[in-house]
Amino acid sequence: MNCPKCNSDLAKKFYKGMFEVESCPNCRGMWLDFNELDKLEDVVFDEDLHKGSLVHFQTRTEFPCPHCGSKLDEFQYRLYDLKLETCAENAHGFWLDAGEDERVLEAMQKRAGEMRRKFNAEAEWKQILKGMHEFLTKKK
Ligand SMILES: [Zn+2]
Ligand SMILES: [Zn+2]
Repeated sequence: MNCPKCNSDLAKKFYKGMFEVESCPNCRGMWLDFNELDKLEDVVFDEDLHKGSLVHFQTRTEFPCPHCGSKLDEFQYRLYDLKLETCAENAHGFWLDAGEDERVLEAMQKRAGEMRRKFNAEAEWKQILKGMHEFLTKKK
């Protein structure tokens, strides 16, 4: 698979010991696959994750999905005020530019603090994956 942004070969990497991603050694972005979701069935959703729309401002980009080559859509991910690209056509996964994952982690930590609950990065990431996946498949 190739990087949608710079076309370098993506390399499999175990992201912070949590799950596997395809990461770009050149621009340091990473691709998160939705087929990892088969392993995430036991994840329980927070109710607030479903309030309002999770993503908006959908626009088509020129960047190709590493799986199918269809153009990725850019979304604003509301919970973490984050722009990311996703394969809207076939729901293959989504792309994070370099440093965006750290911003998500920061936002997660802040939210967990506000809600006075224990912060579990792995569970939070899985919720993001699952939320994105459900959003994309529901639209069809
Ligand atoms: Zn790249
Ligand atoms: Zn795709």
